Parts: sequence; structure tokens; C-alpha cells
Amino acid sequence: MNVSWKQRLGAELCAVKDIEQFRHRLTLQSAQGPRVVIDNREFLNFSSNDYLGLANNQGIKDVFKSALDKYGVGSGASHLVVGHSEPYESLEKQIADWTGRDRAVVFSSGYMANLGIFNALLTKRDSVFADKLNHASLVDAAIASPASVSRFRHADLSHLEKLIDKQERTDNGLGIIATDGVFSMDGDIADLPALSGIARESGSLLVVDDAHGLGVLGKSGAGSAEYFSLDQDNLPVLMGTFGKALGCAGAFVAGPCDLIELIIQRSRNYIYTTASPPAQAAAISKSIELVRNGQHLRAHLQQLISHFRQGLSQIPFSKKRSVQIESHTPIQPVVLGDNSLAVEAARLLRARGLLVIAIRPPTVPRNTARLRITLSAAHSLSDIDELLKGLYEVFSILGLCK
Ligand SMILES: *Cc1c(COP(=O)(O)O)cnc(C)c1O
Repeated sequence: MNVSWKQRLGAELCAVKDIEQFRHRLTLQSAQGPRVVIDNREFLNFSSNDYLGLANNQGIKDVFKSALDKYGVGSGASHLVVGHSEPYESLEKQIADWTGRDRAVVFSSGYMANLGIFNALLTKRDSVFADKLNHASLVDAAIASPASVSRFRHADLSHLEKLIDKQERTDNGLGIIATDGVFSMDGDIADLPALSGIARESGSLLVVDDAHGLGVLGKSGAGSAEYFSLDQDNLPVLMGTFGKALGCAGAFVAGPCDLIELIIQRSRNYIYTTASPPAQAAAISKSIELVRNGQHLRAHLQQLISHFRQGLSQIPFSKKRSVQIESHTPIQPVVLGDNSLAVEAARLLRARGLLVIAIRPPTVPRNTARLRITLSAAHSLSDIDELLKGLYEVFSILGLCK
């Protein structure tokens, strides 16, 4: 049978709409920040991953501008040809020093970095063991690799051990345990010391995607590895991104020299892509400097998180539902369950000038549609109070409160 491609596209789009998963992009008319302008209206923004409020930081912008004058806009080539410039070379050294790893390599995005790790390491004899709630890019990287992939129930380490045991009997390839450091939709922190122990005992390699931990956790903001004091021996493959707390764009993989060298030699998505603009690397370097000295930003952020959690717990929900997830990171989901309820809550909040995004399946498991509220060090305590007031009003309108 011959279906025209036009009919096919139409049918696919209808299918997305039918299951209430159609998404609209908002168009910002301002810089990213605690307040953003959309449709000529200002909103108090609780949706970005700009956890430290650095996306529009003047110091970083100044460095970006002067690097732009020196190095131009385009890098002109891939890293292995002639696109690897001074700002990248010094950024990689700075990341290695910050994270306490031997060496680091910079990718144009976190999605690319995850693909790059698996691309360099895995053959069809190998296995990946992945937490069910891992970020889509880690899932895709595993699936795109020739290795076999099994997924363990979220944070269920005995399930992980069972999967590893089963695999070991049939195979003697490399095993990789892959996890988010901080889970992107729930905000909980992975039990990395325990995962590291399992990796050691089973001879597997632990890969941690710390997109949401970097900048936020650890004394110098080096993320969940620093938070748990896990050095390179205990956490050999550390990936982090610059698009979230660092307020820029791009990502890195840090670890033993041989690992990084293998990625540079082998990862097709490192080799066959143009390097990001050199000025971007210079901006990231400045951002890392601010983050390393950003104890005051992290302390303020923690204060906002406690204030929000305290306030949310005082909203008198009627059903015996628990809407709150145990999270002490800036990701504070409010789980409403039903897709249309979450969408309606977000719409009512927006009418009150509060920008909160409803997250639905397939980004989160079925029946766990939620408001994904994110806090930033650029918020004030009174911003949080305004959010709490709006949430109470909206939940009352929706009949969720006593
Ligand atoms: C955002 C994110 C990524 C992707 O990083 P980008 O730089 O945006 O491509 C990877 N992993 C996790 C856990 C993320 O949250």
C-alpha cells in the first residue's frame, strides 16, 4: 500500500494531539532570567535551568564579547582539523582541575557528550545498566550503541544487582552503569556512593550525567561527585553540562587520560562536527570561575528551596495525595497525575503572571504529569512567596484543596 508522505505526516501529528502531547514553544522577547517577557507580558519565571542566575551575567557577557573580538564568531572546523582554539584548550584544563579529574574534553552539548561516551566505549559484547528515570540523552546514547541495554527501576539498587548478575553469566564484555547525578524531572540525588560500590564489585564502569548537579552541589559547585567526595577512581566517567547552572551552552566529559583520549580518537559525534564558537568556551571559563567562588549563590538557593518546600507543605490538599517529591535541589516537581489537570494548572498560573511548565508523558511516566518548578539563585524570597500564593489559588480553583 502506498500512503503519500503528506498523509503520513498529518496522521502522525494527529496522533500526538490525540494523546494530549502536543507541545507549543514559547518565544522569549527578553534574556533568560527570573523575569522574562513573552507576548509583550512580563512573567515571574520558574521554568528555566538557570539555577544560579548566570545566563545573563554581566561578567560572563564581557568575557564573551572580548573573546568574540579576538577569535571571531565561527570556529571554522572540527576540533581535530583546525577548530580547537586556545579558549577550549584552557577550558579543558580548568575543568580537569575543578573536578579533580586527569583530563576533560568539551562537547557542543550534553546530548552529544552522552552519545560520545557510549560511542567511544561500547561494542556488541558489552552491556549498559541504566536507571529507568535517566535523561533521554543517556537512554538514546545507550540504545544507539551496539551494546545490550537493561534498565533498573528508579534508584532500586537490588534490581540493578540482579540485572548485573544475570548478564555476567552470559557475557564477559564491559559493563557500564549509567545514571543521572540529579534526576531532571524529580530532583532527587542518585545514591552515587552505593552505585560506585556496585560498580567496583561487579567490575563495571560508572558513568554519571551531572547536568543538574553541576554548579548546584558540592562546596565548589563541582556537582554530585564533589558532594559525595567521589574521586576519579570511584567515579571514573563524569559528564556535566554548561547550559544549566553555568548559564552557557555545551558539555564536558572528565576522567582518566586514556578514556578522554579514546573519546577524542573514536567518538564520531566529536570528530565529525564543527567546534562551537571559541568565545563560548571563554564565556564558560568565566562562568566556572564564578561558580567555584559561588558559595553565596548556592547558600541563597538552598534558602529558597527550604522556603518553598515549607510553604508548599502548608497548602491543605484535600485528597490523600502526596504532590511533593523529596527533593532538595532546585528542581521542585508538584505531581498532579492527570495530563489535563497539569496543563490547566499551568495555564491558570500563567494568567497570574507565573511561568511554570507542565511536564507530561513521555517525558515523565504515565499518570505522573506535573508542574516542574525550578528555582534560581536570582529569585528572591518574595518571588517564592508570590509563587506559593499563586499555587494555593490555582489548586483551590481546581478543587484540590480543603
Ligand atoms: C539537559 C540534560 C542533558 C542534555 O544537555 P544539553 O547540553 O542540553 O544537550 C543531558 N542530561 C541531562 C540529565 C540533562 O538534564
